[in-house]
Amino acid sequence: MASATWLHTFSLRHALRPRSTFSYAYGSSLRPLGPVHVQAKRGSALKDEDVASSDNLRFEAPLKIVEYPDPVLRAKNKRIDSFDDNLKKLVDEMFDVMYKTDGIGLAAPQVGINVRLMVFNPVGERGEGEEIVLVNPRVNKYSKKVVLFNEACLSFPGIFADVKRPESVKIDAQNIKGAKFSVNLSGLPARVFQHEYDHLQVFCSLVSHSSKITVDSVGCSIL
Ligand SMILES: [Zn+2]
Repeated sequence: MASATWLHTFSLRHALRPRSTFSYAYGSSLRPLGPVHVQAKRGSALKDEDVASSDNLRFEAPLKIVEYPDPVLRAKNKRIDSFDDNLKKLVDEMFDVMYKTDGIGLAAPQVGINVRLMVFNPVGERGEGEEIVLVNPRVNKYSKKVVLFNEACLSFPGIFADVKRPESVKIDAQNIKGAKFSVNLSGLPARVFQHEYDHLQVFCSLVSHSSKITVDSVGCSIL
């Protein structure tokens, strides 16, 4: 298994240790492209999504990382429509626990809050790099190019797996004030985003790729 690891569990020392991680383009079609995502964007899915209540967004600081097999990791994550001070505080606390755990990304369900929110900073150091907050993110398009990377996850301690994912991705999301925007990510930021997005979608790419644990034993709903 490749030695380099990263994402929210990993220290950047590992993250930036290289060659064995970056690698191999695996052809073109490991993910559905085009029509599936276009339909999702144009359809009524947004209207049908459950909206988070203030109770859903209630939290206590400091936040703690939720680990498998906590059912919160498999619960539906609700859309946010209150862009208030509570949300800002939640984001601040998520960054705080992310940095404390040497992470570079974190999804809200990993701190016990089932809402569609993620934070990340590919540099992984407070005051360095760029802090990115994505509220209600949706994938607009995946690249055809797919790359392999060794991943780990704070919620699954000790589990590592090589995961193939698209090299870049186009995202529609809202910022912490509720403004809508689109962004193209590639390389490490795209990798972090897709890992966190799996948490919001209750996908389990990491787990499904690990030799140490099976998808059935975790009970992930979608692959
Ligand atoms: Zn994770």
